[in-house]
Amino acid sequence: MFFTPFASGHKKTESELATVLSDRGHSEQALDEPFVHAVEPTFDAQHVGAEPVPVRVIHKPETHQPEPPAIAVTHTMQTTIPATASTLATTVITKFAESEMVAALRDEGVPQRHIDIAQRREALTRESLTTIMSSAEYGFLTPEGVARVNARLAKLAYYPPSSAGQVAGADIKEFLTAHGFALNQFEGILPVQVKDSHLVIGITESMDRNRATLLFPGVSHEYVVASQRTLQTIWRRNFADSAADAMALYHELVQARVEDDNAQTLLRRFVLSVMRHACYMGASDIGFTPSASESGGDVRLKVDGQGEIFTFLPKTVWDKVISHLVTQTGSQDKITKGPVDRRFEWLPGDHDEFREITSRYAFRIELLPRSESQPRHVTVVMRILDQQADTAELDQLEFDAETLRYLTQVTNLRTGLMLVVGPTGSGKTTTLYALLNTMDPVTRWLESIENPIEYQRGLWMQMQTMQATGDDSDGAASAEARSAGLLLKGMLRAAPDVILFGEIRKGDIAFELLDAANTGHLAFTTMHVNEAVMVFSRFKGFGVDMPTLGSLLRGVLAQRLVRTLCTHCAQPDERITTLDALSNLDYIDAMRARPMRPVGCPNCNGSGFRGRRMVYELLQISPAVRDLIEQDAPPSRIVAAGIKSDNTLYANSLKLVAKGLTTIEDARALSSFVTV
Ligand SMILES: [Zn+2]
Repeated sequence: MFFTPFASGHKKTESELATVLSDRGHSEQALDEPFVHAVEPTFDAQHVGAEPVPVRVIHKPETHQPEPPAIAVTHTMQTTIPATASTLATTVITKFAESEMVAALRDEGVPQRHIDIAQRREALTRESLTTIMSSAEYGFLTPEGVARVNARLAKLAYYPPSSAGQVAGADIKEFLTAHGFALNQFEGILPVQVKDSHLVIGITESMDRNRATLLFPGVSHEYVVASQRTLQTIWRRNFADSAADAMALYHELVQARVEDDNAQTLLRRFVLSVMRHACYMGASDIGFTPSASESGGDVRLKVDGQGEIFTFLPKTVWDKVISHLVTQTGSQDKITKGPVDRRFEWLPGDHDEFREITSRYAFRIELLPRSESQPRHVTVVMRILDQQADTAELDQLEFDAETLRYLTQVTNLRTGLMLVVGPTGSGKTTTLYALLNTMDPVTRWLESIENPIEYQRGLWMQMQTMQATGDDSDGAASAEARSAGLLLKGMLRAAPDVILFGEIRKGDIAFELLDAANTGHLAFTTMHVNEAVMVFSRFKGFGVDMPTLGSLLRGVLAQRLVRTLCTHCAQPDERITTLDALSNLDYIDAMRARPMRPVGCPNCNGSGFRGRRMVYELLQISPAVRDLIEQDAPPSRIVAAGIKSDNTLYANSLKLVAKGLTTIEDARALSSFVTV
């Protein structure tokens, strides 16, 4: 969409538009606030003799100057418009929007050559520039980049996704209730903060301002611009009542009669509503654990790495849920022989009511029978794969300046292997995507093998490993591993410059990637080990010789996520043990350290924590470090030479403790050794 100050000399003059406005009961003087109104202008019809095109008229006080005039027109792209008229309207409007848009794109740091490429396509297709540049098209702009451009065009502050974790949902709800408002559904705009008795409202673009005024009449407010995704996350975590929805279906299910045709549908809807709730909370896993007494079982979630119990299910419902999951994955016979690993398949009906999850998430389901003699006593664990998880940008990951500089230099190299390591759920993929997002996808060909393809990136050549079929005897994981090896061989014949490979699990993949790194490719991948020091024994286990690894390895970034304290309730931590841990360290100024401890409030559901952030250590490969690797030196010596003592995983986590962002317990939990 475009903001288009009408220049003088255009067929539709300012005074004509003012007439349209006054016909609708709005004089220009009355428009102090930005204003949107659907009008049916006549200029398109006059030009092409077609149907009138819906056009919105916006009065923008901030551009009220003699030239350009005060009235701007923007064209609503989503309406059904006859093709001829639509093309004409877009042409007229695009011409006026271009300079403002291009200036905003330049401010965002988009290079002119990318703007040129997008404008050439725009001339052919009439798409908007931000659409062409978005992730799903050319990938010149991330979703957050689009939000920042919209913020610039609207002359408003940008609201980054990192702020979403600390939204005080309880405070906002209280404010809304006190003013007689209720948030019943996600409208695409959302209050994100209560500030001195007025609301800060998150919108996605300038046009939303008027809708916000209509939604919250009489409340004083200001605006910030966020991505749609950020607002949706805030909505899901704080305002959508997904738990209550699931429990409402539970009660319906309890009351449904077994012979009722509807009962099976209700059961499916209940299971999916639990899965939806887990997704809304940002959970990584759902566990269905039967109670030892066989009185039912608990539905457990893992959110931000912490386990919690969502609800207990009494035996009648529990048995139905488990048998549904077993039969739905076609595992009735297999489950008697041992654990079963499957993809969760959607049924056609799921996409209507649960589109928000079926279109975004995939689920891998693990069924574990307790024993041969109790085949019905099954634990079920669902791993949630968010297929849009990783849109983070490198400078939002909060690396220190030196680490950031090193990582950026690695992305500019032409050959070699860069590793990101950490346990499951440590944000490795997020970092990899953020690194690759900094590369120019036009001049360098990027190819990726992913499972699943997490986010469509226009110019990347993305491939997904084959999904296991229901008949695969080895389960989903090994079928996908075989498929990944084949894809990697094929990909190397397709002339990539940069390769992203999901994870090294097996030796053949390690050799294939090192071979690629040795033959003119820059390869990025992950490995499931806890610290940088452990990479070497893993490669040796694969049979890789150290001189080869030493000559090709460009860096190892090890990372974890630690819980962050809720800023609304945390209190100073004055325990001696904490202060002792922070003293006598040259990288922490003990006098200025402000450690905090968790308390708990309505905004964090009493936990004292909200969200997580990354801690890391980066093994830099200097010539000296390379020599040590090639000489097969003890890994501890390699790491001591490549990671400064004030930049280890533990040191960096203590720095977060000193800043009051996480706790000493969380920092210590990262260590491979017990520290006292
Ligand atoms: Zn709190």
